[in-house]
Amino acid sequence: MSFELPIQPPARVGGLINGTASSGGGIDIPVFYPATGAQISTLTEDDGAAVDHAVAAARRAFDTGPWPTLSVAKRIEVLEACRATILANVDELARLECAATGLVLRELRARHMVRAAYNFRFFAEYISQSAGQSYTQTEGYLTTVTREPVGVAALIAPWNAPVALATMKIAAALAFGNTCVLKPSEQTPLALARLVALLQEVLPEGVLNLVNGRGSVTGAALVAHPGVDLISFTGGTETGRSIMSAAGRNLVPCTMELGGKSANIIFASADQERALDGALQGIFSNNGQQCLAGSRILLERSIFDDFTEKFRARAEQVRVGDPLDDATEVGPLASLAHMNRVLSFVDAARGDGGRLLTGGARRHDLGEGYFIAPTAVCASSNADRCAQDEIFGPFATFLPFDTADEAVAIANDTAFGLVSYVWSDDLPTVMATTPRLRSGVVWVNTPMMRELRAPFGGYKTSGVGREGGAACEAFYTEEKTTTLPT
Ligand code: NAD
Repeated sequence: MSFELPIQPPARVGGLINGTASSGGGIDIPVFYPATGAQISTLTEDDGAAVDHAVAAARRAFDTGPWPTLSVAKRIEVLEACRATILANVDELARLECAATGLVLRELRARHMVRAAYNFRFFAEYISQSAGQSYTQTEGYLTTVTREPVGVAALIAPWNAPVALATMKIAAALAFGNTCVLKPSEQTPLALARLVALLQEVLPEGVLNLVNGRGSVTGAALVAHPGVDLISFTGGTETGRSIMSAAGRNLVPCTMELGGKSANIIFASADQERALDGALQGIFSNNGQQCLAGSRILLERSIFDDFTEKFRARAEQVRVGDPLDDATEVGPLASLAHMNRVLSFVDAARGDGGRLLTGGARRHDLGEGYFIAPTAVCASSNADRCAQDEIFGPFATFLPFDTADEAVAIANDTAFGLVSYVWSDDLPTVMATTPRLRSGVVWVNTPMMRELRAPFGGYKTSGVGREGGAACEAFYTEEKTTTLPT
């Protein structure tokens, strides 16, 4: 079996600096279609010299260009033009994203690209409401507090939702007057390369630049660059440690949106059907590759057998297959190495004394693509590797609990702290549980509801700093206090 390509991508992709192709200089990196395993394009890596050019271009655009000092009204016009550009190119961008990620095309069109466009509108609306402060506490003096752009922003994005996640950073950085150098994941450069090229039509020269290549080469050169004024990173926790060290050496602010191992706590007092729908969505959407996946499903013991049985039956009905088929619910994993890593947790779970409920194997019947059957295991304890490590695939881990205290203790017994989910129709249970959960976000009786104005980010090793309306304003601006005699 072989699946049709969503689009014929360009044979070669690379960086874009001041609107023209970068000098590259690094190795060739193959780009694969995860649904077939076939190479579909080649990425030219940007070396240190290309990164220097990109940072210099962004610096020039910041120091001499109109962007940082543009009126808010004009900047809003440009942000709205970015939004319109995405909306006019949804199909092409979604197909390019599908080609490198294997994410389901229907989802990419309806959710990722629409969200990417909305990110620009959101920050356009946000800056239209922004206000400074003034004080006259001391007689004879007026003190004002204004916000100014920070400078050159290094934006580093992962492969699991490249355009949706990167546009949150691009829109926020631009809205507050910064210039940017974007570094996508080397696995998934296609849609972001096209998007950055399209946005050159509406942005002044040098305001948005693109470098491509491995994290250890292009990414490392960018985050260590002395010309970078801030770093916004989304990716794995270990990478976050290394980038934060680089930010520390240059004393530049950074935000870290990192991994998760979120607890999905389901009480007997929950609406069981809604909780089941939510649990399935929480672990299988986005091909299971989501930082906010509810990957540890904690069930009150009285519902454990019934719930896991219903989950198994539904998981076996989940349609795995062609990302271009509207009926597909789970596509391939993003890469061969990632698929093998996800499957390694099946053996780890068995070795730790867990029980495989369903799935656990590659779907060879779907050809050479990186497809696995939706997987669920009952862990022997929360110390099992499948309960502690971020698997980042369609792989649910179940654990029972007897009391709300025990549920909270298990939920918090992890290095991560991105999201927690609580399902119960008993208000006192909800109110007694949610304040004790050590995570940046708690969703109650709802699978995933991101409110862009609210801060989003993690406790513990899930992150440092937050994204969202006011959180982005604080991160992407410097505050300036000016005092003058009146
Ligand atoms: P990753 O850390 O391997 O890579 C992320 C990006 O960092 C890529 O562009 C990569 O090339 C770059 N990079 C790698 N090493 C670097 C270095 N030393 N210096 C600079 N850049 C470097 O992560 P990934 O595998 O692409 O993404 C999956 C991870 O992202 C998961 O852990 C997931 O939980 C996390 N994630 C978090 C959020 C969130 O909002 N908290 C959202 C999505 C994904």
